[in-house]
Formats: sequence, C-alpha cells, structure tokens
Amino acid sequence: MIDECASEKKQLSSIAEALACISSAIEPVTETECVDLKYALGRVLAAPVYSAINSPFERNSAMDGYAFSSTDLIPELAVSLTQVGISWAGQPYQGTLQSGQCVRIFTGAVLPAETDSVVMQEQVQVKASSIVLSAQTQGKQNVRAVGEDSKQGSLVCTAVKKITAIDLGLLASVGIDSLIVKRKVKIAYFSTGNELSALGQPLVSGKIYDSNRYLLSGLLSDVCYQVTDLGVIADDPLQLEDCLLAAAKNHDLIISTGGASVGDADYIKEVLARCGKVDFWKIAIKPGKPLAFGNINGCHFFGLPGNPVAVVVTFQHIVAPALEQLSGTAMSKPLQLLARCTTTLKKSPGRQEYQRGIVSQANNGELVVVSSGQQGSNILSATSLANCYIVLPIECSGIQVGEQVRIELIKNVASSVISY
Ligand code: AMP
Ligand code: MG
Repeated sequence: MIDECASEKKQLSSIAEALACISSAIEPVTETECVDLKYALGRVLAAPVYSAINSPFERNSAMDGYAFSSTDLIPELAVSLTQVGISWAGQPYQGTLQSGQCVRIFTGAVLPAETDSVVMQEQVQVKASSIVLSAQTQGKQNVRAVGEDSKQGSLVCTAVKKITAIDLGLLASVGIDSLIVKRKVKIAYFSTGNELSALGQPLVSGKIYDSNRYLLSGLLSDVCYQVTDLGVIADDPLQLEDCLLAAAKNHDLIISTGGASVGDADYIKEVLARCGKVDFWKIAIKPGKPLAFGNINGCHFFGLPGNPVAVVVTFQHIVAPALEQLSGTAMSKPLQLLARCTTTLKKSPGRQEYQRGIVSQANNGELVVVSSGQQGSNILSATSLANCYIVLPIECSGIQVGEQVRIELIKNVASSVISY
C-alpha cells in the first residue's frame, strides 16, 4: 500500500517535507524505566524533575577569608575585628558572634547566623587574633545565598531532555539519585546486496566488503538505542520480506541499506509496498536520493541507499531526527554556520547537496572551508577527512573561490575545527 503523505505523485520531497511526514508518522515511545543517576547519561527524561531542596542548602562562603557582619563596618574607616573561631567546609562554627567579632572561613563553609559578609583573606591585615578590614571593604559580598542555584520546588530539568554530564551534576546537587527515563528504542539493521562479502574473507571478483553495517553500528551507537544487527540479506524479495516481517515483530524501527533504488535488483520498495506501507521514497538531496520511509505492522522502516556516503548523509539528516522523535526527545535541526569557501565547488541545480569539507578558523576569526576531496557517494576516504558538510541549496549551480557557503559540523568526527 502506498500512502499519499508526501507521496510519489511528486517526484522528489524536500528534506523539510520528508521530516514533516516523519514527524506526523512517528509517536515517541511511551514506556518508561527508572535508572540510577549514574546510568542516566544520554537517556531521555520522561518527566520533569523539580528540586526537593534549596541549593545551596545554607548560606556559605564563596571565598577563603573572614566572615563578619556588615553592621560592624564604619564608612570610610578601617575596622578591627576579633577572630573567635573557624568555620570549615563540612564543619560549621558552632558559637554565637558578638558585635566586633569575626570567624575565619573557607570556601563552601556555612556562614554563622550573625554574619552576612565575607572578605577575601588577601584583603585583610592579620594581627595575632584580630584582623583589620580596610576602609574600602564592602559588606554583603562573597556570600552564596540559600537556593541561588536551584530553589526548592523549582524546575531542574524539563521532560524530553537528553541528560548531559552537566545535568548529572545539577541533579546530584539537589539530591536526585534516580530518574524516570524513556525506554530504549529497539532498532534492527541489515545490508542487502549479493555483492557483499564479510570481513575476514579475501575478496573474489564481483564482491565488495560490507561497509554499511559497520557505519550503521557506529551511527547507532547511542545509549538510547538497543540495536540488533541482522546481517546481510541477499537481493531476493522473499528473503527480504521474511526478514522485515520477523524484525517488525520486536523492533520499533528497521533500517536497511542498498536495494532502495529502481534497478532490477532493488527490491526494497516493492517488498515494502507488499508487506507494509511506503510514505515516501525519494528526497531531493545528494547524496541520498533513493530513500524509503514506511511502516511494517507498526514498526517504522527506513530503506537507505547503498552507497556508504549516502548512508551517512541520509542517516544524519533524516534518520537521526526520526530517532530523536521516536526516543522521546525533540527533533533537532543541525546548526548552520557561514564560512568562506576557498575552492571551487561543482554542482547542478535540482537537489540540496551535502558536500564534504574541511573547515578551519583563520587568524581573523573567520571560518574558511575547502572541499575534503572527491565527492562521489562511494568515496569514504574523503568523507573520513571531512569535519563538515558544505550545504549547497537546491537551486545553487556551483561555488566560486571566495564565496560564502553554509556549513554544518559533522558530529562524531575525529578532526576538530582548529588544529594546533
Ligand atoms: P544499491 O542501492 O543496492 O544499488 O547500491 C548502490 C551502491 O552501493 C552499489 O555500488 C553497491 O555495491 C554499494 N553498496 C550497497 N550496499 C553496500 C554495503 N553494505 N557496503 C558497501 N557498499 C554497498
Ligand atoms: Mg544492491
């Protein structure tokens, strides 16, 4: 069955149309599980988290110095205070201060109730058991207020957020030791093609190694995903159908590579139309035009192209946002930056191209980009050198040296923007 959503009547869908279609077709997983905070990095929070306490819990010092009351200060005069004790981090001063008294205090130590100010140790003159505050000393400085980081009852993390390292620190600071997160998304993937050979065997004529399953295993390496590698399926519609129907029973999403085009050995679209539903199958991007999106008995399906660079580009721009939505977080759009292109780039109008580039930062701060090499959709070597995509819009007919272009940093690449 072929759906009309973004359909085939129109030859090519734009990325925005494809993502709108995906967004309306995909419901986030609803089941949740409780995980220890230690294991929550990267998981999608299922419910908002509020602070049960004030953080800081008590007023404490932001400096190593002396705690005193601002009422002891006399405008434009130096003041001498008697030190009566010490407040350590973890061991507060227990006594009560009188007017004219102070305590030695260290960063993070609780302020005695009678004090409201801390002066840095570098700014006082120490004389036996007293200190002299200069006439310039300000009151009510260097004190961390109760709840200034998180107030009791305030929102600490919103639902649908993917937990970051910083969130782990924040949540721990308010005493949260476990979280309710969305369950992992179950994803199966396989390669198709009679030419594919397993690693570890010498290549015979007509065969190539199966790069795509290794690519996908890397691209799918995310704590929110539980992945199953289904291996290589031959260019055989019956085997493909069996594989899809079996995997659909216990996965949320199936990804295949290869066989999505319209050659005689490309069966994905035909099989999908027979055992499921195709939402769209061609997108106006390069590399990556043949791309099927559909559904098999409630399990979502992406049929990606066979060429490895097309797999990377379509995964990062179409499948990754779909996975974000499926795993319960919001679909994100890649951040685009402007860079000056210092090589000419060839392009014909008709599709949005994601050419592979190397961006660096010039001494004046400007981003400068060059092509990373050959741009064929089979050329993994130049893609491996790239640290960004140069995004050329549908209507663009090439780029001259010096023109400004939009770039997107490629996630999970080894090379950084600036090399030292
Ligand atoms: P297809 O879409 O099946 O016609 O494949 C397009 C191109 O990608 C062909 O050159 C295939 O040999 C190649 N290809 C398909 N699958 C893989 C794979 N798993 N690893 C590497 N190349 C592949
Ligand atoms: Mg093939």
